[in-house]
Amino acid sequence: MKGICILGATGSIGVSTLDVVARHSDKYKVIALTANTNVDALYDQCVAHHPEYAVVVDDAKAIEFKEKINNSNISDIKVMSGTNALEFVSTLENVDSVMAAIVGAAGLLPSLAAAKAGKTVLLANKEALVMSGDIFMQAVRDSGARLLPIDSEHNAIFQCMPAGYTAGDETKQVRRILLTASGGPFRETPVEELHDVTVDQAVAHPKWDMGRKISVDSATMMNKGLELIEACLLFNMSPDDIQVVIHKQSIIHSMVDYVDGSVLAQMGNPDMRIPIAHAMAWPERFESGVEPLDIFEVGKMDFEQPSLQRFPCLRLAYEAIKAGGIMPAVLNAANEIAVDEFLNERLKFTDIPVIIEQCMRRFSAERADTLEIILKADQEAREQSYIIIKELFR
Ligand code: NAD
Ligand code: MG
Repeated sequence: MKGICILGATGSIGVSTLDVVARHSDKYKVIALTANTNVDALYDQCVAHHPEYAVVVDDAKAIEFKEKINNSNISDIKVMSGTNALEFVSTLENVDSVMAAIVGAAGLLPSLAAAKAGKTVLLANKEALVMSGDIFMQAVRDSGARLLPIDSEHNAIFQCMPAGYTAGDETKQVRRILLTASGGPFRETPVEELHDVTVDQAVAHPKWDMGRKISVDSATMMNKGLELIEACLLFNMSPDDIQVVIHKQSIIHSMVDYVDGSVLAQMGNPDMRIPIAHAMAWPERFESGVEPLDIFEVGKMDFEQPSLQRFPCLRLAYEAIKAGGIMPAVLNAANEIAVDEFLNERLKFTDIPVIIEQCMRRFSAERADTLEIILKADQEAREQSYIIIKELFR
């Protein structure tokens, strides 16, 4: 029986994880669940899974939540609040695996704490890795933690890697990685119409049902940009050896091209329970609840090169990883601000890459040797992004 802590339990990945956990209650026991503000969803999850700890980051919401728990028949659940509580539950003695499924930079400290504590880290929170890069990978190596990718593409690549492969290892056998992308909702929208797309259009992903931030990232293809950086780190590859491929059916979740010319692909229906179940069962396999793939219904598969003119965010991500140092953290922070402003209808969709590019121009790719340097760059890039928005649009 393994103990699991789910950071970001109430989100899209968190809910899918609990769906898989419920199918394997003989193998997994939920030790801790965390949420930011959604106390109603967290309460229902507590009733269903009875964790030892429940964390509500928002202090006011936590008080409301604690009262509800105290007046219920699950009053033995310990309720905590604040960001420190996230690190506390992700490093508990009886937690073996930590599902890192908080969205954005807010997930960095608890995910890194889990890595430092030698946990099996099931990593969905790509922003945490993009920001902290080598520091995160080094923490995994130093502590003997196990890092298993949940992002569907990286999980696919991991599955196609040589037997016994450990995240971060160099592989001479691999020539390149083919990182697939659906292309999002605006794959074929005329570029001149992108200016006026609405939030509802941007979050309506054609293939995946996800949180709002990652849905916008998919529409701009910054999601693929972040995933490019994530892949460089997880698989010790140069960005020049990673080719982004638009594959609109989202059946192949990525491919690994070996030096002998063999190309291995992982396929499946687009449902995050597949990578989640893969990582939870690893190195075994167990059921995910996902329907078997009907290859005849798929019929045919298409592959095309992405246009960096249509998707400037992808170009900016290539620039950030090539510059290195703090630049991926700057890219990520500016993107988080710009996406949030777009979701709140204070920016146009096409303003997102403009903010990020201007923000990156205001930083040099200083070395990112310590966590403090990264957190400072993150903070400063957020401040600069707001300044740029004011200068350009207000
Ligand atoms: P979501 O918005 O649905 O859920 C986010 C979760 O994080 C919620 O539980 C929320 O309570 C919590 N959270 C948000 N802000 C927080 C804060 N400041 N402090 C603490 N907790 C906070 O997001 P999601 O779609 O589940 O994505 C989660 C992560 O997984 C992201 O990094 C995303 O890129 C990655 N991911 C998601 C998918 C997907 O299919 N949804 C696929 C691949 C990778
Ligand atoms: Mg992905």
